[in-house]
Amino acid sequence: MKLRKVTAAASVALALAVTATACGSDNKNDSGSSGGNKIKVGIKFDQPGLGLKEPSGSFSGFDVDVATYVAKQLGYKPNQIEFVETKSADRENALARGDVKFIAATYSITDERKQKVDFAGPYLLAHQDLLVKSNSDISKATDLNGKKLCSVTGSTSAQNIHDTIAPKANLREYSGYSECIAGLQSGAVDAVTTDDSILAGFAAQDKYKNQFKLAGLKLSNENYGIGVKKGDATTVKKINDALAKMVSDGSWQKAVDKNFGPANYKNEPAPKTGVIVK
Ligand code: GLU
Repeated sequence: MKLRKVTAAASVALALAVTATACGSDNKNDSGSSGGNKIKVGIKFDQPGLGLKEPSGSFSGFDVDVATYVAKQLGYKPNQIEFVETKSADRENALARGDVKFIAATYSITDERKQKVDFAGPYLLAHQDLLVKSNSDISKATDLNGKKLCSVTGSTSAQNIHDTIAPKANLREYSGYSECIAGLQSGAVDAVTTDDSILAGFAAQDKYKNQFKLAGLKLSNENYGIGVKKGDATTVKKINDALAKMVSDGSWQKAVDKNFGPANYKNEPAPKTGVIVK
């Protein structure tokens, strides 16, 4: 009797597993081709002005608007987009696994990343900078020696600090920038470093008004690309066409004004497809 129960339970488990597998492959088809019902798109969830999941469950930011425009050109309406959080350290794997069709998540095009993923774009040029408390006397990279600095695992920002910008800083790597900002406010860290576009978005939040300042240093060139699975040249081409159209029909500028205007972020002009600023 006992044995039979176990067998019954096992067959239920097996049935569930088969069903789950079937659902899984359906979803994959949906995210994979424009004929499907849904497209999965990777964005950040915690970066105001770029990729933010609002408490209501809706999404806002420049990357969200770029992704929505691109998805439309690929044949998907806004309600057919499923946004998935892709943290800095997870982006290459999310694309390799096919979790998402593309990623628009402050994702800099680099030679190292190009070994693992392909990029469309660039669609924005940002620069690494520092965010400090309003009363801080940190104003340049050498001021960071021995100071507690926060950045994010898997980002070019953390890499650049180690390699060139401030190897002697005491770098803490968190999994998202919102955690670094909380650390800056509490005094756990002395500065946060990443792209100026991201830092400006945090500094402009009502809850941080007048608390932080950007150093205004252009410590690197960050050419934002749209990541796709390695080898998917068809999607790269379609996304490049979509980005060119977004610039030429004025939608790119509208998205810039809407998302960066409130943060008072002075962005660089629209990049040309395939042109990377080193
Ligand atoms: N753009 C940089 C990068 O791709 C920093 C921002 C981020 O971590 O998303 O690593």
